[in-house]
Amino acid sequence: MPEFAQVGDYCPNEACTGYGKGQTKDQANIVKFGKTKAGRQRYQCKSCGGTFTETKGTIFYRRRTPEDEIVETLALLAEGSRISSLSRVKGYKEDTILAWLRDATAHAEAIEEELIAKYQIERGQLDSLWAYVGNKGEKKATQRPTKAANSGGPQ
Ligand SMILES: [Zn+2]
Repeated sequence: MPEFAQVGDYCPNEACTGYGKGQTKDQANIVKFGKTKAGRQRYQCKSCGGTFTETKGTIFYRRRTPEDEIVETLALLAEGSRISSLSRVKGYKEDTILAWLRDATAHAEAIEEELIAKYQIERGQLDSLWAYVGNKGEKKATQRPTKAANSGGPQ
């Protein structure tokens, strides 16, 4: 299995009979299941009935900590908490938190959406978050619509 499985490819529930099994003709237990408040695709596993979002089990694949907990930790980091104090308060090793952050950079856009939607993290805070690992991940430069297209010129 690749390091980052494809979205909706398998059930992330370790207790499920379909856990980690990709979708095939014989193994088709994952169905689309509406969207989250943040507009992300949600899936349901028909084997165990569990639901998960497209980020779950893909961004933090192989991580034992629940994704929500990881994202919350990253949110606190973005809000200015130090890794050392988060480590003390949350009980995770600093290395672990840094590893989450490195994982997150590979899916920066998805993580940013979640941080903005759920934790009201601002753009500048995101930049300082990524600065921790000196990597902006795969985030593409956002293209602002040019005003020139809408204004000026004779009509
Ligand atoms: Zn399942």
